[in-house]
Amino acid sequence: MTVSELSTYLDRLESTSSRNELVKTLAELYLKSSPVEIQPLTYLIQGRLVPFFEPVEIGLGEKLVIAAIAQAFATPADEVAKLFGRLGDLGLVAAKLSAHGSSAELPVTEMHARLLEIAGAAGAGSVEKKRSLFAALLKQVDPNSAKHLVRIALGRLRLGIGDPTVLDALSFARTGDRSLRPVLEGAYNRASDLGLIAKTFWSGGEDDVNALKVTVGRPIRSQLAERLPNPEAVIKKLGLVAVQPKYDGIRVQIHKNGSVVRVFSRNLEDYTVMFSELTTAARGLKDETLILDGEAIAYSKELEEYLPFQLTASRRRQHGIEQAALELPLVAFVFDILYRNGRDLTELPYEERLALVDEVIAGSTVLLPAPIIKTDSVEVLTKTLLDSISQGLEGVVVKRPESKYQAGARNFNWVKLKRHTSGELNDTVDLVLLGYYFGKGKRAEFGVGALLAGVYDAENDRFATITKLGTGLSDAEWRQIRERADKLQVEQRPARVDSILVPDVWLKPEVVVEVMADEITPSPRHTAGKVGDEPGFALRFPRVVSFRGADKGPEDATTVKEIAQLFRQQRERKQPA
Ligand code: AMP
Repeated sequence: MTVSELSTYLDRLESTSSRNELVKTLAELYLKSSPVEIQPLTYLIQGRLVPFFEPVEIGLGEKLVIAAIAQAFATPADEVAKLFGRLGDLGLVAAKLSAHGSSAELPVTEMHARLLEIAGAAGAGSVEKKRSLFAALLKQVDPNSAKHLVRIALGRLRLGIGDPTVLDALSFARTGDRSLRPVLEGAYNRASDLGLIAKTFWSGGEDDVNALKVTVGRPIRSQLAERLPNPEAVIKKLGLVAVQPKYDGIRVQIHKNGSVVRVFSRNLEDYTVMFSELTTAARGLKDETLILDGEAIAYSKELEEYLPFQLTASRRRQHGIEQAALELPLVAFVFDILYRNGRDLTELPYEERLALVDEVIAGSTVLLPAPIIKTDSVEVLTKTLLDSISQGLEGVVVKRPESKYQAGARNFNWVKLKRHTSGELNDTVDLVLLGYYFGKGKRAEFGVGALLAGVYDAENDRFATITKLGTGLSDAEWRQIRERADKLQVEQRPARVDSILVPDVWLKPEVVVEVMADEITPSPRHTAGKVGDEPGFALRFPRVVSFRGADKGPEDATTVKEIAQLFRQQRERKQPA
């Protein structure tokens, strides 16, 4: 496949406003690709060169891209910058200036390899090297490809193709329907690498995909927790449970392979360097290979207290890491082990895995075992929940002692119970920003008045609106939203967004915010949970509690199914049986 063929597909994918079309077009693209091409293609359509968990970024900022465009098309840089001011998109600038672009046919695999070379350039002279390599690449492609190439280099590809859409498209390409999605998804939950799965599927079929194993160095999709309204409901549904404190930090999966340690977040970012004390602690463990699952949280030795989420999140930084590690040291409460010395442990009962956690991290002062209490008593569970809350923790997570680790699943093997504020939703929800309205009055200053926010419809891999947000943010946060929105702005409603309301500006679904609300009400204006003429759900009096980008991607937001469940729980509370 050539770069210009791929670019034609990118145009088609970009202008699609239906998810079904997205799947079909992607399937068509896949059908045209060979087993060698399918892996790089899979990364490229998501604007990447490697899987999400590999910290390889092309690393070209606007300034460097302007310089490269200037070099490629022999145009003064200030003219390129002026054109950028007019067109607002460097991709369009490149397309315009390369009007007589090359007709040479560059294979996609070569473009991918050369972008990797650019990403890999480091050290003295690397800026010039990146610029020259990128300019050479730009010169070799047609105008439309130059447009997409620039967007990929800047991390601004606006397709918004989610991982489930890729899995559906792979199945569709081979079978004409979505029937192989469960097999592909199973492998994805174990390996988190869509490119690897696509390649394996293309060259070896279903059996080879099934044979993809849990491997140290490749993150496993996190097991997630369901919700229940109170301790009574938990004991009634689960019986005997293992109860653990719920720490409000950042989920970390720690992989140790000899002296090589990597730390991944729940949304597959690499925190190895930023959370260096965890990395060092894991390197010191005796076992050769390990995968541990836990929650990292900033801890104040002076106050002997766990610190709020925002402080833990502030450890995600590129600069001043050592100083930050001194001021806000992290510990990780390890609550699971998934792999040890070559053995996949995910099928073992939770209790057995926990016993192994204790053994593996014994003696560490940074990797700590998450304490548990086993009980089938409502009183004991209630007391443990209140104890946790009084220590400044979020609540508790209860787990079925005999359950295995189900990668990527949210089910009743794990249930979270948080503090209950009477009359209010007893929990916050995580929403994705989908668009915004221009502000009036004071808000006009920020350019953003209200935000249109939604939840994730996991079954259909779409985002459905649930509320408009206007309170809870400081002036600085409104400005921050505006800055982020500028980068995510898209011209039309993204194909995966389902909405009756039309905001002034649509956003690519990416920013996740945690929101508290008074209650969930039925609403004809919102699409979350809306089926046919039946109303959807809306949030009443929503306010933003925090930005959750540190640990959650858009697909990690609260789902429509969870909202429906919360709505039922709320009704039961109001009308006790
Ligand atoms: P939520 O993000 O509200 O869906 O809650 C689930 C998250 O709680 C997990 O992804 C973990 O990051 C976090 N968590 C904190 N403590 C625990 C624990 N003891 N067991 C499992 N998850 C925990």
